[in-house]
Amino acid sequence: MPHESNIVHCDGPDSPHAFDIVPLQPRNGMLDARCPICRGHGQWNTEIDLVSFRCKRAICGHCLGAGWIETGDDPVAVADIVMTPEGYPKWITAYVEKDETSDPDRS
Ligand SMILES: [Zn+2]
Repeated sequence: MPHESNIVHCDGPDSPHAFDIVPLQPRNGMLDARCPICRGHGQWNTEIDLVSFRCKRAICGHCLGAGWIETGDDPVAVADIVMTPEGYPKWITAYVEKDETSDPDRS
């Protein structure tokens, strides 16, 4: 028997099979809203075989794979690009806090 496959390529989270067999991410309690880009999945298929369901996936850059995003004032991890001393752009994860002094847990 030849190996059957039906490979579909997905251009992004709007593609028809982008979320096939991709589980929804559990809400971690810190974050407020389901990510509008990946709709709570945190990742999507860039390529999926509809016979074997083998797939390649991309991590959502908006929520960094968490599936949920912060909408309030809590510190939130965001992807940012910095320039290294060598002059190359580099992706980092930055934690943004809107106003540290207003945090009641801090004395
Ligand atoms: Zn997302």
